[in-house]
Amino acid sequence: VPLIEAFTCNECDFKLPTGWGGYVYATDAEGKRIVCPHPGEGYAIQRITGLTYEDADAAGRVGFNSDCICLACLEQFKLDLKRDPRDCPACKSHEVKSTKELIDQPCPACRKGTVRRGSPIRWPLDPDRASLPVPQIVKDFCEYAETREVPASLQEAQAAIKTIPGTKKHDLFIVCIHLLGWWQGEFFERDSEQAKSLGPYELKWPWVQAFRAAVDCTPGLNRLIRWSDGSWFFRDEITAAELRGIKNYTREHYKPPLMS
Ligand SMILES: [Zn+2]
Ligand SMILES: [Zn+2]
Repeated sequence: VPLIEAFTCNECDFKLPTGWGGYVYATDAEGKRIVCPHPGEGYAIQRITGLTYEDADAAGRVGFNSDCICLACLEQFKLDLKRDPRDCPACKSHEVKSTKELIDQPCPACRKGTVRRGSPIRWPLDPDRASLPVPQIVKDFCEYAETREVPASLQEAQAAIKTIPGTKKHDLFIVCIHLLGWWQGEFFERDSEQAKSLGPYELKWPWVQAFRAAVDCTPGLNRLIRWSDGSWFFRDEITAAELRGIKNYTREHYKPPLMS
């Protein structure tokens, strides 16, 4: 059950893929594997297959693509180790291992060192973060993610979601982790800003309707983001300092749930 991690050799500079060790995918109608971003894989699976997680899994339309490396030529690629043969696409060698299988094993590059699981990567933070404005609702979402107790500012949203047919008990939490993931910014690009938008989402899904209802009845959130063409955008009035405040605060206070 990995956290976002770095895998490195203790002797050389050889770098293995960083992240969760791979990703969950679902296959579309043509059998193409589509990434289901973490967190929120369950909803992506639903969106891609049009099936519930259970039905998609039973139909063989869900899998995990692992980060793999060829020990012969050091090519890095993804394989579903439950379905795909261990063949290197570059040199056809069968000596292929996932990054997870390489932990505590000899480094495939220098063969002297040992591959170690590094400490979780630290987000880059801005030195002036203490002086940046952070909207209270952002702090409330972080607290909710941490404690799982619905703060006062989100109770109306929770109540509104309950009235939407098809929503589930944890839909407010799903909304919460999507927002926090967006607000933290892109992990794999150092110092990058948040993406311009979150989405796109299809309103036919109850949880997306729940998302809209939650924003509509939460003034602090409605001031921050707006819905347009199936995606969420920051409102134009939000200043650059506020965006950085949101990014730094969520980076410091929200740790994404682990993938199992
Ligand atoms: Zn190879
Ligand atoms: Zn090495």
